[in-house]
Order: sequence, then structure tokens, then C-alpha cells
Amino acid sequence: MADISSLEKMRQHFNSGVTKSYAFRKEQLSKLKRSILNHEQDLYDALYADLKKSPEETWVTETGLVIAELNAALKHLRSWMEPDNKSTNLLNLPSGSKVIKEPLGVVLIIGPWNYPFQLLINPLIGAIAAGNCVVLKPSEFAPATDAVMKKIIEEVFPKEYILYMQGDGATVIPAMMNNFSFDHVFYTGSTTVGRIIYKMAAERLVPVTLELGGKSPCVVESDANIKVAARRIVMTKFSNAGQMCVAPDYLLVHASVKEQLLNAMKETIQQFFTDKPEESYNYGKIINEKQFNRISGYLSSGTKVTGGRTDKEKLFIEPTILTDVPLDAPVMTDEIFGPVLPVITFTEMEEAKAIIDKHPNPLAFYIYTSAKQKEKQWLEAVPAGGCCVNNSSWHLTNHNLPFGGRGFSGTGCYHGEYSFDTFSHKKAVMKTPTWFDPNIKYPPFKGKLKLFKWVIR
Ligand code: NAD
Repeated sequence: MADISSLEKMRQHFNSGVTKSYAFRKEQLSKLKRSILNHEQDLYDALYADLKKSPEETWVTETGLVIAELNAALKHLRSWMEPDNKSTNLLNLPSGSKVIKEPLGVVLIIGPWNYPFQLLINPLIGAIAAGNCVVLKPSEFAPATDAVMKKIIEEVFPKEYILYMQGDGATVIPAMMNNFSFDHVFYTGSTTVGRIIYKMAAERLVPVTLELGGKSPCVVESDANIKVAARRIVMTKFSNAGQMCVAPDYLLVHASVKEQLLNAMKETIQQFFTDKPEESYNYGKIINEKQFNRISGYLSSGTKVTGGRTDKEKLFIEPTILTDVPLDAPVMTDEIFGPVLPVITFTEMEEAKAIIDKHPNPLAFYIYTSAKQKEKQWLEAVPAGGCCVNNSSWHLTNHNLPFGGRGFSGTGCYHGEYSFDTFSHKKAVMKTPTWFDPNIKYPPFKGKLKLFKWVIR
């Protein structure tokens, strides 16, 4: 466990100013990239051991995403660091105004187990780019990936700059947060633990980014391209065995296309994962027995359209689609975070909207329709962290878009330049020349009201 003196050393290291130059930041990003690529095979092995991810899936959802994020940071770092010049209002002329992006200091990044590499290292890229010192706390539930990440970090970074802190989150994190004032805490994980983190941060007025979970609804309208919808929904719902924060949590399908969609999804599951998904190269496993037991509990919540088989030894749960699910069943009140997809029908938009409103501010919202008007109506109707139209989950992989939740699904955002901004303070600077210093700005003020009303409007 981190003794506080190692965190104080990080503070001293940050205060020395060495992390702030463009050259330093760029070099650290390059080092990180090299170290990751040196351990590419180790990461494939580890993610297979923890979650049964194939190398292809690992590249698309973990390593490749991180490398793309690193490349974007390396390419744009200089322009991100440039001050933003701003215009100056009449009152302050002839002053000049700008915004300087200042590193925050020593920041804490806490990761979850479902994408254990990407969700810890992507925020790290933003934090390094912005010139900070970083404590990394990985999830203890993906031990193989945790061990490789420790090597990747410790082989290239000294502990006073990037500290890799393993262990039980419930012990390690309070021990740090209650005894040291971080300059920012970036947390990805469940809403329950997010609340604990938020409270600890509030005690010391530490700003936070919270990347939380929730129930992300997916609506399929009567005019959707059903074949395409089925492929895209099955792909994103059952990728990583459903253990994805932006997976479609439940489906709201227009009654007129329900049968067609269910048949298409059944067929697609078969094509993607075969009759024996437990042996499929393309299908993952549940992370541990605790999650296996939790998700298995949902399987009896409705009528099984497909799936439902489990194997505890292999931590396997078959891709499962359920209908006739009561809206008050746990599968419709909890975040599912597993390969179980409840399908509910609607005929009027208001019906579907009322169900979505039971879980406000989802992390993501997906609408499948070919009508522009419906697309607009739905996008306006559901406040959400992010959205896809005729797609699910993939918005997360475009680093030009901000990624984050709102309200119950989180606060703040990151990816690409948004990560840089998250880990930078925007410092307002006004510079006023001395050659112009009119008396009108100074007392006595009596009789100047009319002029002030003209200047300040
Ligand atoms: P979790 O909350 O159990 O753990 C996340 C981190 O918190 C881990 O590093 C853990 O060590 C630490 N932790 C656990 N208990 C703690 C405590 N009492 N005090 C302080 N720290 C503690 O989350 P998880 O199960 O790893 O992840 C699943 C959840 O994360 C789901 O709800 C999912 O939707 C969400 N998630 C969100 C995103 C996103 O980007 N918004 C991404 C992935 C996962």
C-alpha cells in the first residue's frame, strides 16, 4: 500500500516543474507507446486469461484504441498546449486576454476490470499530455492484465512520476484519498463505488471525473433496417460477454417489427458465436464467480427466446434474449452488465419513453430508424451521455468525440483533446498595458454612472 510519503514525493516531483515542458510530455507518451508495443503479446495472453478476449477483440477494444489515442496525443500535443487567445470586452480595452492550460498536479486514476487496460491507460494518456504526475489504481479483478500493466508502467516511469498502485480498492483508495489531497480523481466503475469516491473527494474539495454505468436503452423503430440492426445490436450486446458499460442494456422494439427482429437476432447470434458459444473464438467469459452468480440470477426473469445455458466451471453464460419481462424485475431495474438482453415492445413513442425515464441520464442511448424526423425526436427526447443512430457503442471509439455520462451515469468526459482538457486547468490571463490608464476608472465615481452604463452593457 502507498505510504503517504511516496505521494508527497510525487508532489515534490510535480512542483519541481519537470513534467511541464512539451519535450518532456512528448517523450513520456513515446515511452508509453513503446512499452505497450513491447508487451503486445503479453497483453493478448493476459486479456485472454482474464476475460477470454481474442487478440483481434483485444486490439479493437483495448490495445489498438489506446495506441490510436496515443498517436492522436503525440500528433496534436503542441496545439493542445497552445494558449487560446480570447477577445477582450470594451471595459478592459486595450488589455489582451488568453487562456493558459495548466497541469493539475498529482492525479489519481482508478480503473475497472471489464476493459482493464484501455480504461486505465486512456485517461493516463490525457494526464501525461497535460503534464501531471499520476497514481494508477487498476482493478484487482483482472489480475493477469494488472500484472502486465505494472510491467509496462514500471519499466519506463519512475515512481515519483507515475506510481502503479495495486490492491483491494476498498482499502487502498481510502488510505490514499483520506490522507492526501489529490488535484483530481478520475474514476471509472460502478455507480455505488462512484458515490463513495465522490464523498471522499468532497471532504478535501478534490475535483472528480466519474465514468459510471447504468442502463443504456436501445430503441428499434418500425422503419429500422432490421437485418443491420440485429447484427449491430448482437455485436455490441454480446461483445466481452456483455460486460461493457456502453452495451445496449435492454431493447425497446416497435411491436410491428418485434418478431422479425427477434428472428434476425437469433440467427445472428448463431452466425457469430455458433451453437456452442462456450467454444467460440469470438465469445468471452464472465470475469468471476460473483458476477456469474449475479448475472445467472437474471436468466429466469422472462421467456427465453434464445440462450439461457450456463457453465459455472467455465464462467460461461450463453448469449440470452428474454421477452415477457416484468418492468419491476431486477433485470429491468439493475444494470445487467452481462449477456442477457430483455426485449420489450412498444407501439407509441410515449410508452417507450416512460420506460426509459425510469432510469434517467443513461450513459448511452441508441436509436435505430431510417426516418430523419424520428431520429431527431428521439435524440431530443432522451438526455444521455452519448448516442448512436443506427449503431450501438461505437461512438466510444472515435477519439474526436467526448466520452462520458451525465448525472447518474457520470460527470465529466475524456478522449482525445477532451482528456487533455480534463487534466488541465484553464487559467484565465489578462494583460493590461501601462501606457493607457484613464482617470475614469478610479474614484471619485460620482457622476460617472451614465458612462459606466455605456461601457458595461
Ligand atoms: P467497481 O466499482 O467494483 O470497481 C472500480 C474500481 O473501484 C476498482 O479499481 C476497485 O478497486 C475500486 N473500488 C472497489 N470498491 C471500492 C471502495 N469501496 N472504495 C474505493 N474504491 C473501490 O466497478 P467494476 O465492477 O470494476 O466495473 C463495473 C462498473 O463500471 C459497471 O457499472 C460499468 O457500467 C461501469 N463502467 C463504466 C465505464 C464508463 O466508461 N462509464 C466503463 C467501464 C465500466
